[in-house]
Amino acid sequence: MIIEYHRPKTLDEATRLLSKPDTRPLGGGTSLNRPSPERFAVVDLQALGLNKIHKSGNKLVIGATATLQALLDSAHIPPALQETIHLETTYNLRQMATVAGTLVACDGRSTFTTAMLALDAKCTVTSEQSSVISLGDLLPLHTEILRSKLITRIEILLNAKLTFESVARTPADKPIVCAVLAQWPSGRTRLALGGWGKSPLLAMDGNEPGGVEEAARNAFAEAADEWASAEYRSEMAAVLARRCVGKLQVEG
Ligand SMILES: Cc1cc2nc3c(=O)[nH]c(=O)nc-3n(C[C@H](O)[C@H](O)[C@H](O)COP(=O)(O)OP(=O)(O)OC[C@H]3O[C@@H](n4cnc5c(N)ncnc54)[C@H](O)[C@@H]3O)c2cc1C
Repeated sequence: MIIEYHRPKTLDEATRLLSKPDTRPLGGGTSLNRPSPERFAVVDLQALGLNKIHKSGNKLVIGATATLQALLDSAHIPPALQETIHLETTYNLRQMATVAGTLVACDGRSTFTTAMLALDAKCTVTSEQSSVISLGDLLPLHTEILRSKLITRIEILLNAKLTFESVARTPADKPIVCAVLAQWPSGRTRLALGGWGKSPLLAMDGNEPGGVEEAARNAFAEAADEWASAEYRSEMAAVLARRCVGKLQVEG
């Protein structure tokens, strides 16, 4: 339950407020506003101007409070990333949910976080000082790692080719297994898997796509829950990884 509300106008003020105990950043509020037995103060980020999205050379710089819909509407993002944002949540929620809030509140079924992990997104994390940390080193984010800290922006490289494949009960459902493959002009290839657990998993980060199926199979070897057995997920992860590689080759 929210017991105190602050709306700072500067980043300094926001970080000072966040250094107090039991105080959390408020993005779109779609997760924080849910009923909860915990009592906490919130620092609303909406007056900080952190919602801009701009291209800088090869990079897309995404302000932490940009909404998922704003990112989806951006002219710069690859179609596979658009697909993962569509699957993440509904149109109404996409207009409220922020990019940083979604990464922080994600679980393993987040298609958007899976794609951002494959893209090796870099998060700028601010408390008294700022540091740039790979999303993969932060996940799962809803832990102690971000206590008193704020994500101010997220960067991805736009020169990667990106492919996405998934299986779900229905086309609009969150996937039971999904795979996102990113490949850069250098040959560097990253495979991230979603659909299970506390956060998406990085299955492979190599110099070429060789071995991607085996990496996918191994990464989900114990991925069992009420939705699917580990045997099923492991096998599907390998199939989806193979399809992602096939799509990359078609795209040339
Ligand atoms: C009806 C409904 C259905 C939903 N279904 C799902 C679902 O199926 N799966 C799912 O994963 N989620 C679901 N959600 C949760 C929610 O929609 C998403 O997780 C959402 O994307 C959170 O984004 P937000 O900006 O609203 O975050 P907020 O609610 O504002 O914050 C979420 C968390 O992120 C932290 N945070 C926010 N911004 C920052 C920042 N800049 N730096 C550091 N920490 C930050 C907050 O302190 C909080 O811990 C649902 C919500 C609703 C209302």
